[in-house]
Parts: sequence; C-alpha cells; structure tokens
Amino acid sequence: MTKALRVNGDRMWSRLMQMAQIGATAHGGCNRQALTDGDIAGRNLLSSWAQAAGCAVRVDAVGNMFLRRAGRDETLPVVMTGSHLDTQPTGGKFDGVYGVLAGLEVIESLNDHRITTLHPIELSVWCNEEGSRFPMAMMGSAVWSGRLPIDTAYALTDRQGISVRSELERAGVSTGAPLSRQAVKASIEVHIEQGPVLEQTRKTIGIVTGVQHMSRHEVIVEGQEAHAGPTPMDMRRDPIRVLSDLLPALYTATERHGPDARITFGFIETLPGSPNTVPGRLRFTVDIRHPDAKRYAALRQELDQLVRAALVRHSLAGDVRCVWEAPGVSFDPVCVDAVRRAVNDLGLDSLEMVSGAGHDSCNVSAVVPAAMVFVPCAGGLSHNEAESAAAGDLTAGANVLLHAMLQLAMR
Ligand SMILES: [Zn+2]
Repeated sequence: MTKALRVNGDRMWSRLMQMAQIGATAHGGCNRQALTDGDIAGRNLLSSWAQAAGCAVRVDAVGNMFLRRAGRDETLPVVMTGSHLDTQPTGGKFDGVYGVLAGLEVIESLNDHRITTLHPIELSVWCNEEGSRFPMAMMGSAVWSGRLPIDTAYALTDRQGISVRSELERAGVSTGAPLSRQAVKASIEVHIEQGPVLEQTRKTIGIVTGVQHMSRHEVIVEGQEAHAGPTPMDMRRDPIRVLSDLLPALYTATERHGPDARITFGFIETLPGSPNTVPGRLRFTVDIRHPDAKRYAALRQELDQLVRAALVRHSLAGDVRCVWEAPGVSFDPVCVDAVRRAVNDLGLDSLEMVSGAGHDSCNVSAVVPAAMVFVPCAGGLSHNEAESAAAGDLTAGANVLLHAMLQLAMR
C-alpha cells in the first residue's frame, strides 16, 4: 500500500522559497553562512516546522540538529536523512537546503498518510558544511563521525576572530556536553548534483555510488633568471621547459585513465613574472581526481615520475609534493540498492555516478551505512546565486528518498 505514496512537491517548493527569504541576496541567492544570524534564523524556522510535524528536536554539542519522528520500535537504530542549511556567502537556494527540506517532506508525507515506520526516522542538519566562514568544510559531520576532535572545531575562528564555540553558545547550543553518536541503520542524503552531467544526459536521478579520490599537488622548478635577448636558448636554465614537457604528458596520461579521470592546473606562477626575463622559478598546482582507487593511485604515481623525469631531462632542480588529499568513498551497497529500487519503482530515468564534490555523507559513511541521491541543477551551476533546479526534478528526488527510506525503515 506504500507503493503509491508520493511527496507533496508544492509544499516542499514553498518551504524552499520561504527558507530562501532568510539571508536572501540581491541576485536571487542566499547568504546564511554558518552560525550567523541568518543561519540561526533558518535553523529556528526548520525547528518550528519539524515540531509542528510532531518531531522531537535535539541539538548536539557541535550544533548538529537531529529532528526525530518516532518509530514503532523506539529501541531500533534510526534511518537517517539530512544535509546542511548553511550556505556560501553568495550561495544558492538549493545546495544543502534541498536535502534538509526533502527530508522534512518525507516526514510530513508519512504524517499525511498516517504511516508509522518500524525504525525511527531522523532528519539531520549538519553544522558548518560549507566551511566558508569557519575554514573547515563538513565540520559538524566530521565531529559526529569521530574524524575531528570537537575542541579543534570549537577553536576555529572566522576573519573577525570569533570562534565556533562562542557562536554556538550565542545560538543556545550547550557546548562541552558529551557527544554521543546515536545508532543509525542507514543514511540517505539527497543533493543537487552541482555539475552538468545529469542535465546533459537528460536524466532525472543520479544514483551516487561513491565520492571520488582527490588530491592537490604543488610542483616547484628552480631555473635561473636571464635576459630574454642575449641568452641563447641552449645556454638557459629555463623552468618552463619542464612545464612544456609535463602538460601534454599529463593530459595524455589522464585520458588513458578513462573519462572519469580529472586533472586541473589551476595555478601557474613564474618568478619574477617579467616578459623579457627567463623565469628563475616556476610554481604550479595539479589537482587529481578519480573514482577508482587503482587508477587514482596510478595517476598520482605518474605525476611524480613525469615531474622527476622532466627535471632530469632539463638538468633542473625542483620537487613535487602532495599538499592535500581526501580519500574516496564507496557508499554502502545495501543503501545504494535501496535507492536503485526506489528509482525503478518510480520509473525514473537515472544514471549511476560518483560525486565530484565532498559532502557530509563522506563523513557519515565512515561510521554508518550511507548513500546519496543527486538531482540535476540548471547548467550544473552551484556555489552561485544563480543556482537553480526544476521543481519536478526536486519532487522526483524527494520521492526517491521517501521510497528508499521506507524500504530501510519498514523492516
Ligand atoms: Zn552542499
């Protein structure tokens, strides 16, 4: 009898638009950075909606909110959904917020149809996902999952020197309380894709099987500054020679690792940076990503080998080092399958994909079974005031969430 159940897409859309009025920006976006007045107002609005829907509201010591709908057996682990309400300074109306309000819509739809699940359901709102005000993305979920000490989170400060701890206290959170992680059977997060693939392939739902491996590297090559005129080419120590070898070699290597491989040279600097001086120093960054652990590791290794070989070939000193790495995530097969079956039951067009961006679910999946659902966003734009998504796609994603959660929460 639950097969025919659908969410109320109009109600969810109207809640999205009401939430977007808090911290609304001039160009149609939102500015509700973590623990600002806007973020606190958004959290309070959500609390009032959830309480009206019969949920119990709990906030943990790092500001994560858990809105609980009782199950038939309250001793069983919860089936969780959720995302974040905070935004970038010039963020959109949907990033994170959609995942939270889709979760609320699931709860309200179950209320409408007087369905009680066996497991309790919890809607989570993770504190400071964006990391734009306090420089630590996915902070709340990292503390919850035990990957980040709470005191490290408390000590983070914004540009004015205001700490997370003092802002949590201002928001009425009792800091210092012991943080105990509730038992969770499964967690499903819905999110806009934040990339163009679903839109371009005309699919409504992304079944997210994991998050890609990613790392950032810095390459430095030492040359010798020399006059661009009198110095013959064969008498220079020109670090750009290394770059001219590396770029084609690395693009080729990346192509060899298939269409899921990514390489980005986002920063290239020469010193002194003068048009008529051979640079004395070259510094550039390489961002490498791949969903497959073996291919990712191979590409990383090729970067190191290609840099070293180019340095030797041109008799130049230099180095390559990894400055940041986030290991990839494979989501739980049972949770992914619950999403897959929901998509099939609903007859929606879908694509299995890995996320190119980090999400709270990366932290959550470190300690409990988790998966994600993506819906398209216009032009793939996100972290942008123009971020936009079609109401029909958002409703489809919420229906997938509803049916995946029902599968997991009913037995
Ligand atoms: Zn997000």
